[in-house]
Amino acid sequence: MNDDPQEQTPGGGSVPPAERAASGAPVDALTGAYDDHSELASHGRYIPTARATPRQAKPLSEWDSRPRILVTNDDGIESRGLLALKQALQAVGDVYVMAPATNQSAVGHSMTFMRPLRVRERTLDDGSTGWSVDGSPTDAVGVAFLGYFGVSFDLVASGINYGSNLGDDITYSGTVGAAMEAVLSGCPAFAMSAEWSNDPDFSLPGRVAEMVARNILEHGLGEGELLNVNTPAEAAADPAEIELTRMGKRVYQDKLLERLDPRGVPYYWFGGPPPTGVSEPGTDFHAVSAGKVAITPIQLDLTAGRLLERIHDWTWGLQNEDEREAAAE
Ligand code: MN
Repeated sequence: MNDDPQEQTPGGGSVPPAERAASGAPVDALTGAYDDHSELASHGRYIPTARATPRQAKPLSEWDSRPRILVTNDDGIESRGLLALKQALQAVGDVYVMAPATNQSAVGHSMTFMRPLRVRERTLDDGSTGWSVDGSPTDAVGVAFLGYFGVSFDLVASGINYGSNLGDDITYSGTVGAAMEAVLSGCPAFAMSAEWSNDPDFSLPGRVAEMVARNILEHGLGEGELLNVNTPAEAAADPAEIELTRMGKRVYQDKLLERLDPRGVPYYWFGGPPPTGVSEPGTDFHAVSAGKVAITPIQLDLTAGRLLERIHDWTWGLQNEDEREAAAE
């Protein structure tokens, strides 16, 4: 395990950026960034990167030190689900919490580029320390992975989300987005969501998260793979049954609500009843509807294999300039 992430030496440029711009140094037209990133770093410093060095999966008894686990979510640092996940995973490893400062539900895999990010140290409800970032779940993973803590991670757990992330939901989900970000950086991850209830009880999702974390640390995940885990609000059996599932099909019932603001100008909100789904056996939606825990392996390779086959029969190929001119005459 590399506890001393290799130092990235910000090049020793000593010419102030303003002077350098005046001297005609190359500046990227779109971003205004200097081509030579060492000039950017001279304003501050690049934090030494520590990412992408998770340890090899093996039985937990064979690990020479406790796994390092990053816990994040999309409901925000104050979520009880986040605290429940952190507390559940302390049984498995050393847990670091870095989560969005505010609720970021349904931001998906978005990342903040056009403004700076502020990180704040926070005291969680159990008295322990966590950190919030005023950005998305992906930002939280990015800040942690790119060296904020000066350590690398063996696993990222995202949740416990208030509300299911089933089927097509994962395309909106910030909970899953954070896990995707981890996986893109070469670190195994899972997303954990609990079916919505008026009086959420995070004991079942907590126990499930611990089981999932142990499994991933012991067996590993392949490149671009993650687990999307959903627990029912009320399990149909004790212990709750676990079903390994595939992504189901959501049926959204969104409606556009128009209201008037105090100045008489209309504004719009997505509203309507919560989504349902196609209750097909083998799917995550079917399992959770039946009071079971659904564990769905998903992957970042979104290539549509059947469509790739089919479009081979379509007409492809462009005309050269002579052919285009001939066609235009
Ligand atoms: Mn959420």
